[in-house]
Amino acid sequence: MMPHHILEKALELKVFQVWELVRELEKDWEFLLTGKQIKDRVRTWVRNNLSTGFLVKVMNDPPMFTVRKYEKEWREHLRLRACPVCGEKFLPRKSQTLYCSETCANRQYAKRKWQKVKPEKRKPRKWTKEELNLLKETARKRGKLSAQDMRELARLLNRTFKAVQHKYYEEVRR
Ligand SMILES: [Zn+2]
Repeated sequence: MMPHHILEKALELKVFQVWELVRELEKDWEFLLTGKQIKDRVRTWVRNNLSTGFLVKVMNDPPMFTVRKYEKEWREHLRLRACPVCGEKFLPRKSQTLYCSETCANRQYAKRKWQKVKPEKRKPRKWTKEELNLLKETARKRGKLSAQDMRELARLLNRTFKAVQHKYYEEVRR
């Protein structure tokens, strides 16, 4: 991979982060070079061309470069990605960046986790009269339910601790 190969891709991209240029070159050169070798060569090439003024750094965070002849219009050549969660367009900082923000990444993570929960467990099971009576009766006998009582009821009714706790505050200790 010679400097003119890098130049060719840089001219195609017009505005780029190092990883973008590396990714483009990998398509043609990964049969011969490792990703690290390509990255090293791209970095050296960028450094050399910044010093001659052929390239200009147009942004610091993330580091973004352009060929000088596109210096004025560099923003027009930015490649933005649409966030699959909120739809907002954003500038990816790595090739693996999928979401615009940590908030959206977390939201997606929570959604995936939720989707793994079996459908029958997603909808809270309705409380039967008998179950409700048992809850009320236990509460009446004990005066009030301790965490230990709620845990036992949860086990007995095959419900979560939270479900029992919620029902208790909803029905008994209003
Ligand atoms: Zn987003």
